[in-house]
Amino acid sequence: MINIIDEEKIHGILDKKQNADISEVRDVLNKAKELRGLDLEEIATLLTIESQDLLQELYETALYVKREIYGSRLVLFAPLYISNYCANNCLYCGFRADNKEIERRTLSLDEIKEETIGILEQGHKRVLMLMGENHQACSFDYFLEAIDTVYSVQDSKGSSIRRINIEIAPLTDEEFHKLKDVKIGTYTVFQESYHRETYKKMHPSGKKSDYDFRINTMDRALENGMHDVGIGTLFGLYDYKFEVLAMIEHAKHLDRKFNVGPHTISIPRINPAKNAPASLDIPHKVSDENFKKLVAAIRCSVPYTGMILSTRESVALRNQLFDLGISQISAGSRTNPGGYKQAFGLDHVEDESQFLLNDSRSSGEVIKDVLQHGFIPSFCTACYRLGRVGEDFMDQAKPGLIKLFCQPNGLTTLKEYLVSYADEETIEIGNALIEKELAEIPNEKVRNKAKEYLKRIEEGDRDLYF
Ligand code: SAM
Ligand code: SF4
Repeated sequence: MINIIDEEKIHGILDKKQNADISEVRDVLNKAKELRGLDLEEIATLLTIESQDLLQELYETALYVKREIYGSRLVLFAPLYISNYCANNCLYCGFRADNKEIERRTLSLDEIKEETIGILEQGHKRVLMLMGENHQACSFDYFLEAIDTVYSVQDSKGSSIRRINIEIAPLTDEEFHKLKDVKIGTYTVFQESYHRETYKKMHPSGKKSDYDFRINTMDRALENGMHDVGIGTLFGLYDYKFEVLAMIEHAKHLDRKFNVGPHTISIPRINPAKNAPASLDIPHKVSDENFKKLVAAIRCSVPYTGMILSTRESVALRNQLFDLGISQISAGSRTNPGGYKQAFGLDHVEDESQFLLNDSRSSGEVIKDVLQHGFIPSFCTACYRLGRVGEDFMDQAKPGLIKLFCQPNGLTTLKEYLVSYADEETIEIGNALIEKELAEIPNEKVRNKAKEYLKRIEEGDRDLYF
């Protein structure tokens, strides 16, 4: 087993790069605009920026990179928690085994169907399925059944979930083999902290306390048939600059070894959770200003990797982060098993959330807001369904070609949303954005095909994509 993170090397870079001068920062920003990514020293240079003027230049560069690779679409998804039983004891999490005040539950397959309906009725086509780690209360085989169940559901408009991503505990080789037979999009595991000592402190017991087993998860995944993997850091546990450099080192390791970097990077920050001491007294709290800086620096460093933002962040900050390189967002989320059913007033469910959310708006409100900011709220799932995954996806993403698919697919899936789920005001703003974006599609053939698809969707056709 190789040591993916060389802590001494990272600390050495951070010690060396404490006060980069203006010309050094500008050189790095110019390199970022070439869209080939940055090395660790260059990322460390960006993270030293303190002046408002240079921060502004960093933000503009991040937006440039994002627009060059992804255009103006923001992909939407909803999380679906199926169990909050957990045998681990992560000090920051409300599901930890030592939290005796939380009511535990694993959703039955029928309840999973109801939750899926709740998600579909918000217009979603992608879900991220999650659970705690407790093999007695929720086995891996049950989880596989739950995936099939979610795909099997249709709402009153005839819509189904088209892509399931999963975020569950690290799997063994054998479990990855079983997963190969089920259709999933991205397999995600957050390292939480790349700093070994911090990791040990934060994960005192349970299977998750094994740092090496966790950090090698994506190597096992890619060796055992997974195509798209997602990584992440829980910001607040250790120095954010160390964590950013280490996470990018992890991405570079996967790229070197498998010729495919992570499909996505997630950047959760710790939010308060019941009986979770590290969430109430955060060891290395990251300010909003530093958070914006790290998001922009990541976007410049790995331009072709999707970056996911959850509803942990406030509405105001989320809106600012869209301009700094975020490419996927969750909307209308619930982090307690059964939460959608509760939100739709069908039943009463005790509060069993994993942590508090700062953006509790409905998906409809988020979508309207995204439109008003000039982004295309996209429900696209085309790449995964056409086999544009793993290395093939990267081959399109690296030279900036993926937006040629993202833009028209964003428009056709938005149209589906407007026709079936939106209110009058959203329909009006959405159709205006579609007209504007349509005119900007550079390739005439694609533009004409997109027009044809949009017309067919208005007439009742569905699921048309490039
Ligand atoms: N239980 C699995 C695991 O830990 O890998 C699956 C993912 S867990 C349900 C989802 C993620 O939530 C964790 O990886 C962690 O980063 C994040 N999380 C836990 N407690 C949190 C908190 N208080 N605030 C924000 N994010 C938190
Ligand atoms: Fe369990 Fe995951 Fe929460 Fe840790 S983060 S206590 S493993 S649900």
